[in-house]
Amino acid sequence: MIKTLSLVASVLTTEKEAKTTRDDLYKLAAKTSLLMDEKQLTEKNTAHAEEPLRHLGVKLLNALSADAGSVKVEVLHSNLVRIREILGEILKPHISAKNYQKLIDAFGFYSDTKFLTSLIHDAKFTHEKKTVFDNLAKMFPAEMDKLRKQRARAKPIPCAAVASGCKQLAVRQQGQFNGSQFCPYHHMAVFEQKIKSPKLETFISNKNMATYLCQYLIQDEDNLCTENNTKKMLNGAKPLRLFHFARAVLAYKLVDRKLRRNRAEAVLQKYLNKNATGFVHVDDKHVAVAKKVMVESDVHNTAKGTKYGQKATFNAPPKDIFDVILGATNRVLQHIFDERYLKSRVHAMYLRTMSLPPYWKNMALKEVKKNGEAGKNASETKEEKQAS
Ligand SMILES: [Zn+2]
Repeated sequence: MIKTLSLVASVLTTEKEAKTTRDDLYKLAAKTSLLMDEKQLTEKNTAHAEEPLRHLGVKLLNALSADAGSVKVEVLHSNLVRIREILGEILKPHISAKNYQKLIDAFGFYSDTKFLTSLIHDAKFTHEKKTVFDNLAKMFPAEMDKLRKQRARAKPIPCAAVASGCKQLAVRQQGQFNGSQFCPYHHMAVFEQKIKSPKLETFISNKNMATYLCQYLIQDEDNLCTENNTKKMLNGAKPLRLFHFARAVLAYKLVDRKLRRNRAEAVLQKYLNKNATGFVHVDDKHVAVAKKVMVESDVHNTAKGTKYGQKATFNAPPKDIFDVILGATNRVLQHIFDERYLKSRVHAMYLRTMSLPPYWKNMALKEVKKNGEAGKNASETKEEKQAS
């Protein structure tokens, strides 16, 4: 490995300088092994170096096998500097001042960001890079094993828009971007419209998106309740209640028919009862209508009778029983959504999880230029799967 490193070094500097550095490292390696043989260096007095060394090994293994673009050379450099200090301290009592300086110089050379950048990023050194990697892999078998498993989990997956004959890979999670099951091009085709014109409905129905709107309504509650326009619309209700009511109505519509009667009752008690903490402050008239519809569905059921007996409630209230009330509360939510939420920091946070990182965005834009609007064919059902 030292040989490989000096080969890279020789290209970067003069061959002579590289050779000197290499010889120094060989000498030090020999000296260290001798000291270990003589039991001057033992497991006990070097134990504290083990963890930093292992840590460095993992960092190097990662850096030497990852996409070159994602490697931070500065981090490697600071790790190497730390190891130099630890090793220097261990060896110092056993070696001459001259040799100590050589160690510091040699380490300084190989931990220099210029050297690391070349080894990792320069295509010229692909072979050397692999040799160093293979050697390190032998030195840190357990870490290598872990890395291999990690890599397998992060294996690239093909773009989900297979129907359009796409053979690209999906964009992985990166920074604040959540990752996508689509390639850059198809991600943009599917999500650009959603990002540009967000809909209140999806921020209520989609589990992930709802967390952002919910977070905003909690964080900005005081402002919403005091700002004149919104205050008037809310009519005393807390904005978060309207949001929970909307979600409850949605859940009600999806619930099994057999459970609908009970669920409708629960919604009434929790949100439409004047004394309830979740009261949404809507017009009494509308609540009265909803209650009447519910009673009617019971009567209808009783009159008809079923083989499950008079008390069976299979004749459930209609799905749209709360729609008029929901329309009223959603008008308030829509106002908050348009005027406040979309301009909020919370929404900006959401956008960052959805918008392609610059590198991928450029790639997508290039594709768009090439293909025109073809990407719009990406399947909508796939997208919904991802959204929920
Ligand atoms: Zn694709």
